[in-house]
Amino acid sequence: AIPLVVAISTAVSAQNGLLIRNRTAFEESRKISALLFDKTGTLTKGEFGVTRIETIDDHYSADELLRLVSALEQSSEHPIAVGVVNKAKEKNITIPTPENFQAITGKGVKAQVDGKEIKVVSPGYLKDEKVTVPEAAFGSAAETVVFVLIDDKLIGYIALADTIRPESARAIHVFKKNHIKVMMATGDNEVVAKAVSSALGLDNYYAEVLPHQKVEVVKALQAKGEFVAMTGDGVNDAPALAQADVGIAVGSGTDVAAETADIILVNSNPQDIANLILFGKATYSKMI
Ligand code: ADP
Ligand code: MG
Repeated sequence: AIPLVVAISTAVSAQNGLLIRNRTAFEESRKISALLFDKTGTLTKGEFGVTRIETIDDHYSADELLRLVSALEQSSEHPIAVGVVNKAKEKNITIPTPENFQAITGKGVKAQVDGKEIKVVSPGYLKDEKVTVPEAAFGSAAETVVFVLIDDKLIGYIALADTIRPESARAIHVFKKNHIKVMMATGDNEVVAKAVSSALGLDNYYAEVLPHQKVEVVKALQAKGEFVAMTGDGVNDAPALAQADVGIAVGSGTDVAAETADIILVNSNPQDIANLILFGKATYSKMI
């Protein structure tokens, strides 16, 4: 006979865009007291549109900046990269092929284009390298801003905007009703993190978090006695997903993240986690 829990969790999965990899995850889900979400593609749609391209060096036009940056970004799978490449295509820019493409973990990408070294990086990277972040880069809007360095000289920046998923607010309402603390850890800048956090009424957020720091955030919550569920994508999130009491890999997540996770959130939709928790609570309250 198929154990009841397995049968139930299979049914829940099928209906709700969840894949439960660990047999105990369904039962454990009702113990969750703190949920740590990633932002891009989970709480937000993960569909970035370019809002501004600014150069701070007269030798480069906005189109030239976009041409160089899109060369790097066509080799990246980050939602920021998709937004940049879409913009270049929209403008019919011929995208060159980069050489020696490399990701700078949690901070950006780099490669050679036309014999120059191009880096597209986060504000955190500039701070680490003691490069002054131009104040004008952060306007009044909550935008994700990436900076462009050519041979280590700051040339300009590109601002992008993403939108919050409508399902996020509904899911968070359910979590709050069930006394689950909802938090967000993102590699994105403070301004964006704060805007998303207040729009959704989150209990807390962590901005400019590097992948390895997510493990520490999970551990700190566990040390406070929380039973922590965490969502994540990408190879870099695997250690934090393993540390979490319930690790949830989101849909487009890489194989490594998915292999470490207890649950796979096929449609990256937070509402599916809310349904799982409610269904778990209802099921076990009837059984006991
Ligand atoms: P998150 O998943 O929260 O977006 P990441 O670790 O993936 O965090 O990225 C953190 C930051 O690193 C981004 O906000 C961006 O500034 C920079 N970054 C990462 N990948 C790229 C990329 N392909 N192009 C430009 N910037 C990037
Ligand atoms: Mg990421």
